[in-house]
Amino acid sequence: MIVGLDLDEVLCGLLSCIQKFLLENHDFHFMESDLVDYHLERLPCLPSSISKEVVENIYNGRFAREALPTPYAEHSLNKLRMAGFKIHIITHRHEYLFRPITEEWLDKHNLYYDELHMVYNKHDVIEKCNIDAMVDDRFDVLSTIYRSCGELKYGLYCIDAPWNYRFNNMFVWRVADVSVATNRIISALRGNANEDSMS
Ligand SMILES: [Mg+2]
Repeated sequence: MIVGLDLDEVLCGLLSCIQKFLLENHDFHFMESDLVDYHLERLPCLPSSISKEVVENIYNGRFAREALPTPYAEHSLNKLRMAGFKIHIITHRHEYLFRPITEEWLDKHNLYYDELHMVYNKHDVIEKCNIDAMVDDRFDVLSTIYRSCGELKYGLYCIDAPWNYRFNNMFVWRVADVSVATNRIISALRGNANEDSMS
């Protein structure tokens, strides 16, 4: 049994780190609800010089190093492991630029995992590794997984965020955070186990 989890905005609060940077260095404040999609540099009110600096700090790994885990990230991974799941982290972060930084960060924050996949097409990993549930904040990613792989045994979960509000799919569960997704995955496992034992 394997659970796939995205990294940024599921386990890692990258956006909060960027918000803090902008506030402290440029006295610039924005809220998540100001974002129409996940590309911060497209915020219309962000001056281009600051936007350039944000992009630089994304690609030089500063934000990836300084970000903190999202609330309940460690607890959720431990709970999934205790329930018998293996953890595959599946991220769009670029392998060449971010693998060492990402491994170090996961280690530093006690986020234990079995595999770290750094890929463009997440649905390929889901299929290849027979992953049983997936948690992401990008609705397009989850929809593509659904189209390629179906519902997954223990479900597809989308963390609520302004950049995915306008999308909907009856096969994707909306959840407030990774701990709610974790509880649902474990309930689905127990539900299936009960059905198995009853049949
Ligand atoms: Mg993400």
